[in-house]
Amino acid sequence: MTRHYNFCAGPAALPDAVLARAQREMLDFEGRGLSVMEMSHRSDEFAGIAHQAEACLRRLMGIPEQYRVLFLQGGASMQFAMLPMNLLGRGGRANFIQTGIWGKKALAEARHLGFDCHVAGESESNGHIEVPSRESLQVSDDAAYLHYTANETIGGLEFDYVPTLARADGADVPLVCDMSSSILSGPIDVTDFGVIYAGAQKNIGPAGLTLVIVREDLIGHALARTPTLFDYQALAEAESMVNTPPTYAWYLSGLVFDWLENEMGGLAAIDALNQRKADKLYRAIDDSDFYSNPIARHNRSRMNVPFVLADSALDKAFLSEAEAAGLLNLKGHRSVGGMRASLYNAVPEAAVDALIAFMHDFEQRKG
Ligand code: PMP
Repeated sequence: MTRHYNFCAGPAALPDAVLARAQREMLDFEGRGLSVMEMSHRSDEFAGIAHQAEACLRRLMGIPEQYRVLFLQGGASMQFAMLPMNLLGRGGRANFIQTGIWGKKALAEARHLGFDCHVAGESESNGHIEVPSRESLQVSDDAAYLHYTANETIGGLEFDYVPTLARADGADVPLVCDMSSSILSGPIDVTDFGVIYAGAQKNIGPAGLTLVIVREDLIGHALARTPTLFDYQALAEAESMVNTPPTYAWYLSGLVFDWLENEMGGLAAIDALNQRKADKLYRAIDDSDFYSNPIARHNRSRMNVPFVLADSALDKAFLSEAEAAGLLNLKGHRSVGGMRASLYNAVPEAAVDALIAFMHDFEQRKG
C-alpha cells in the first residue's frame, strides 16, 4: 500500500494516524461488536463519541461556555442561507466583506432569499489580490452582522487581521466568519466572533459535516418562516440531533481533534508548522521566474497556494508528471485554472519538500 501526497483543496488529506485508527475501530468499536456507522445516534455509545469530540474541539480552540457548537449537514453553503434566516429576525441588514468566490456566493444567497445586503468592503476592484484595509471598511448604520471569508480557498487570499467593527451608534456588530479552509490552522480568539462556521472536508474531517460555533445570544431570533432544520435554536436544543446527524463524520472529526491535541501538540504547534510549510513553498515560487503567485504577501493563504506556470502550455505535463511522482490534486480550481497546492494540517512537511523538489526538477527540464 502506498499513500501519495494529497494537495486537494477538499475533500482533503486526512492524517494517516486517524485513518489507521478508524480502520482498527471499523468492525468492532471498543469491544461493542459493531461499527460506529451502525450505532443509533441516540445510543449511549454515540453520545460518548459526540461529547468527546465537542469537548476536545472546545479545548483546542478555547471555545467559551457561552458558545454552542453544532454538528450539522448541508455544507458551508447551507450556512449561506441559514445565517441570514437566523440572524435577521430582529431586523437590520446583513453586511458582507467580499474577497472572492465564496464570499460572493454567501452574499448572492442572502440576496436570493430577498434580503437587502450592504457590502462593507471588497477586493474585487484589485482582482482579489489584497484584502481591503481595516480603515476602508464601512458597516451600515443598521448592520445586524458582518460576514467575511477568513481564507478564500480558490483565490488563496487570507485575512491577516480580524475585521471587528462597530456601528456608528457604537453598537457591536457580530462578526460571522466562514472559516471553512482555515479553521484549526492556528489559534484564534473565539470571542471576536458571533458565528464561526466551516465545512469539515478540509481541516476537520470528511465531507458531510458542517461545524457551526455560535454565540448564545444570537440563537433564538430566527425569522418565523425558518425551517426547523435551519433554526439554530431547534438544533442547539436538540444537541444537533433534530434528525439523524452525520454520525461517522462526527466520529472521524473527533479522531482528528484528538490527533491535533495529542499528536501535533495543539493549535500553537500546528500554527508554526503551517507557517513553515507555506513559507517554503512561497519562497520556492518567488525565487523562480517559472512559477508565480500574484497575492499581496501579507494576504497570502497559508492553506491554499495557487500558482501559475510562465507557459500555461506546460500545465498538462506538470500535472501528469506530478501525479506520476505521487503528488496528487495540484490542479487549480476550474474557475481560475493554473495550479493550487492545499497545505492543510494533515499535509506533512515532507509533502511540501517533495513538491518543491519536483517543481525545481520540472523547471530545470522545461524552463
Ligand atoms: N466556503 C469556503 C471558504 C470554501 O472553501 C468552501 C468549499 N470549498 C465552501 C464555502 C463551500 O463548502 P461546502 O462545499 O461545504 O458547501
